[in-house]
Amino acid sequence: MPIPLTDVRAQYAPLLDELKARIAGVLDSGHFILGPEVKAFEEEAARFLGAGEAMGVANGTDALVIVLDALGVGPGDEVICPSFTFYATAESVARRGATPVFADIDPVTLNLDPQSVAANVTERTKAILPVHLFGRPLDVAALPDAAPVVEDAAQAFGAAVGDRRVGSLGAAATFSFYPTKNLFGLGDGGLVTTAEAELGERVRLLRFHGSRDKQTFEAVGYNSRLDELQAAALRIFLRHVDEWNAGRRAAAARYAGLGLGEVCELPADEPGHVYHMYVVRTSERERLTAALDQADIGWAAYYTTPLHLQPALAGLGYSEGDLPDTERAARETLALPLWPAITREQQERVVECLRAASSVKAA
Ligand SMILES: *Cc1c(COP(=O)(O)O)cnc(C)c1O
Repeated sequence: MPIPLTDVRAQYAPLLDELKARIAGVLDSGHFILGPEVKAFEEEAARFLGAGEAMGVANGTDALVIVLDALGVGPGDEVICPSFTFYATAESVARRGATPVFADIDPVTLNLDPQSVAANVTERTKAILPVHLFGRPLDVAALPDAAPVVEDAAQAFGAAVGDRRVGSLGAAATFSFYPTKNLFGLGDGGLVTTAEAELGERVRLLRFHGSRDKQTFEAVGYNSRLDELQAAALRIFLRHVDEWNAGRRAAAARYAGLGLGEVCELPADEPGHVYHMYVVRTSERERLTAALDQADIGWAAYYTTPLHLQPALAGLGYSEGDLPDTERAARETLALPLWPAITREQQERVVECLRAASSVKAA
């Protein structure tokens, strides 16, 4: 039997009857856009996250663009972000006509290195945009106090620093509900959170064409809304996300217990890490992935060309060697199968496969 990288169907299979009933309820209501399900989900998500308020939008990329717009980020402004992340992080900055400024990462956490962020602050820095990469929470308090922090929390719903969830750590935060994320919908969806009422109001205005009443248009905005069917599913899944994240953490611990650390460098654990992906480091990625392919075991190498070297952003003037820890992570990291209900047997097969293929032999 093949082992996939992740298995989203295994996650919602036990909830199918409930899902179908809720979807039927939306069909009965005839209300599909910005209705009671979205409103209820926004309130429940804000409470779960300990964030002041939450605004549903069409996807995680729109969430970033809209919140940067609401903060007034535009041409001439700089936004400091990582290069070792999904393209949308920096794309949203460029979409606003502003300049992404790439800071390097901490080689252990793979998250932004606060010292590198500090070194990149200028008088034009308008926002700092950290990513809680692969589900690992970044402590926003460690970042320089130079500009508002927008958390790109797309990969970290439910993650926490101490007793504070990501999504409540900065001036604002964004989430994606793309169907591989820790909290996911049955299609695209996104969320913005903030504790600043004025900013929240601005996001609400922008997501609907810059209008409060469909009559007067106060800003050039967007048509970017979470829909009722997605919100109905998300409300069900929100009640399970803590248990799913606990399952991910247990599976991560099991990999360590099975001796995976003998053949590659394991992700350093910390209590609030929710393992969106289980990402190890190895200097022999090609050899290991060839063996995984042979054994029908899923894997992924993410961000193999980091954003500062992407053709669309070549105009920023970065070149190879500018961000050494980012470039090394792009060469050495490898995501292995992990989802909340992955079994011990499946994980044993992954570890056995890697152990047999590795040139690093345990003493
Ligand atoms: C998934 C993701 C996004 C974009 O979310 P979409 O819903 O696909 O638009 C943004 N940033 C990061 C770090 C992501 O992983």
